[in-house]
Amino acid sequence: MKNSILLIVAFLVTTVITAQDQKQKDTEWEQKFEQLGTMLPTPNVYRTASGAPGHQYWQQKADYKMKITLDDNNQSITGSETITYYNNSPDNLEYLWVQLDQNVRARDSDSPLIDQSSMNDTLSAFSVFNLVGDQDYDGGFKIKSVKSDGKDMSYTINKTMMRIDLAQPLKSGENMSFNISWMYNINNRMNDFGRSGLEYFPEEGNYLYTIAQFFPRMAVYIDNEGWQNKQFLGRGEFALTFGDYEVELTVPEDFVVGATGTLQNAKEVLTDEQMQRFEQAKKSYEKPVIIVTEKEARKAEKTKATGTKTWKFKAENVRDYAFCASRKFIWDAMAVKLENGSEPLAMSYYPKEGNPLWEEWSTIAVAQTLKTYSKFTIDYPYPIAISVHTASIGMEYPMICFNYGRPDADGSYTDQKKHGMISVIIHEVGHNFFPMIINSDERQWTWMDEGLNTFVQYLTEQELEENYLDYEYPSRRGPAANIVPYMSGERGLVRPIMTNSEQIRQFGNNAYAKPATALNILRETVMGPELFDKAFKTYAQRWAFKHPTPADLFRTMEDASAVDLDWFWRGWFYGTDYVDVDLANVRWFQMQTEENGLETRNIKGAGQGIDTKNDGKKDFGSNPQPFVFKDWTGSVGEFQTSLNNEKIKQVAQGKNFYELTLKNKGGLVTPVLIQWTYADGSVELEKIPAEIWKMDEKEVTKVFMKDKEVTKIVIDPDQKTADAYTDNNVFPRSEEGDRFEQFKDGKD
Ligand SMILES: [Zn+2]
Repeated sequence: MKNSILLIVAFLVTTVITAQDQKQKDTEWEQKFEQLGTMLPTPNVYRTASGAPGHQYWQQKADYKMKITLDDNNQSITGSETITYYNNSPDNLEYLWVQLDQNVRARDSDSPLIDQSSMNDTLSAFSVFNLVGDQDYDGGFKIKSVKSDGKDMSYTINKTMMRIDLAQPLKSGENMSFNISWMYNINNRMNDFGRSGLEYFPEEGNYLYTIAQFFPRMAVYIDNEGWQNKQFLGRGEFALTFGDYEVELTVPEDFVVGATGTLQNAKEVLTDEQMQRFEQAKKSYEKPVIIVTEKEARKAEKTKATGTKTWKFKAENVRDYAFCASRKFIWDAMAVKLENGSEPLAMSYYPKEGNPLWEEWSTIAVAQTLKTYSKFTIDYPYPIAISVHTASIGMEYPMICFNYGRPDADGSYTDQKKHGMISVIIHEVGHNFFPMIINSDERQWTWMDEGLNTFVQYLTEQELEENYLDYEYPSRRGPAANIVPYMSGERGLVRPIMTNSEQIRQFGNNAYAKPATALNILRETVMGPELFDKAFKTYAQRWAFKHPTPADLFRTMEDASAVDLDWFWRGWFYGTDYVDVDLANVRWFQMQTEENGLETRNIKGAGQGIDTKNDGKKDFGSNPQPFVFKDWTGSVGEFQTSLNNEKIKQVAQGKNFYELTLKNKGGLVTPVLIQWTYADGSVELEKIPAEIWKMDEKEVTKVFMKDKEVTKIVIDPDQKTADAYTDNNVFPRSEEGDRFEQFKDGKD
């Protein structure tokens, strides 16, 4: 009780003293700690104020039965699908929207039209190709029919979207089935940087197919947006509905196929020997077992079968479907034991060009990803996770992803290539969780999957290092210091994280690195791992197999931790400020007593090197400045106080009081990590929460009482807060730091 009275007194006194200053400063108040309030959507029965799905939460479902034929002679896909669409919404639907993503490559696509371009006196073939387009390639879906009960349905295609008009509305709670038949020419993704497509190996005449967005897919109909029918322009990725898939993939009979889902007819497509290896892999927990060997793949490359084989797969509760197919594939697999007892298979498909790197690292990286992500989010719920080798891309789909990392022709590779490959595999396999299971809308928000995924990727890289490496893993995105050049860089090139996918500048920094770093700082510095991990896991559990929005994440992180994070979301996600704390001044005091001899000083004139307004002071001085202790009695409002003056005096006696002046030069409010080095060489780290800036967002002073004399103070010594300019973090100031400050001030 005594303590709280003391606090009240201190508060009132401080308020009185600073009220005048504050009046002046409030014109600069930017409300950095104001609650997000109306910036977030109003909670309702579908999405609660705590960030959880509401009691009337609903989502649609779309099941697919597909028969797909891959023509290796003409490099095309022909398909027929029956979609059963379940209207679980409370609304009656007059029409359905279907996504035709391949139309981004159709000749009448808007995408090349909206790309900016400019002329130069020299243009590379690549630049000219971008200007004139691929004249030889006729892309886009050729829709052959859309039928229900054998009857043609009325439909309209608007670029990448197809509206199917219904004779009668599809009522709430009802479902309907319809069939679409189509074909399209597979793009050469080595030319157009497609997420999906083919790679041709001219020396042997073989193709390697990594195929996705290959079928008309249901658009999402959702409580907060209605139909998500924003056009696919190429960058903002996908919004998709969960459903069950039964897929038959017909390919040349010498092809090996990997796909979303469980293979239903392994015995029909594998040799007896391969079947045995497959069974062996299911019990191999330490390292992968090779199911199709390099020798078998090399043999298959030399001839071309004329017959076909059909690979049959089933997948439950997935939001999309993809596959890979080639006669070039080597295939390995191992089992992964998860906490909940399930044992999914980690698998890799790669041509000989991927070895020896791929047989050594791909499946190991997949397995580590499943383990770490399961720990921080939810146990991996699918039966398999596949990593497929590609020359140049990283792209994710449910249970399967396409990853780069190809050694030189002689099989040699640099450390950089190895780490690039491991990182992309962790990243793309990690996408199974964000957004394949925690199914956010990528077309609106790139950061919701890329940022969260890149954050857990960073945690996985650390665990991989622990388990497999004897050196520090070179993580690119996650460490706070790595984001500094972006955040403090050219203002015109920085946009808030909360920016729609198509308008983002510096895509990788904005949507991957910054949110990942923000979450890392939130975990390590703002909340601490214990509170953060529980809240982050709660978000994953609440929204697994559902459709979360940004507000659901923001709210859940607070709801499960009791940490007010509105300032953090406001600053890091809605703003473009950066962190730069300037330790502008330090003053050292001791209480004047007879014993310490300070009483003999003339208070006004004494204190070596001490100046109340001195921002340019270099060091602590050789002696502290004295302050006079004055007994106090009185009352504040209805609080009668009787402070024990003598006791307070005893506590303060002989102590060192350091008054720090901190300036927020970057604008982003932040916790302040203070490292104290004492005269005896010992070091102490102290954390001041970000709320220190709540009354003044630009400049604060704070007094610390220390037993020992301080020789050095460093703000954020381990670079945990993404502080942009660290030269102004040190006291006493080094000569160098000072010069830098002058230079920067001059520049401002
Ligand atoms: Zn990604």
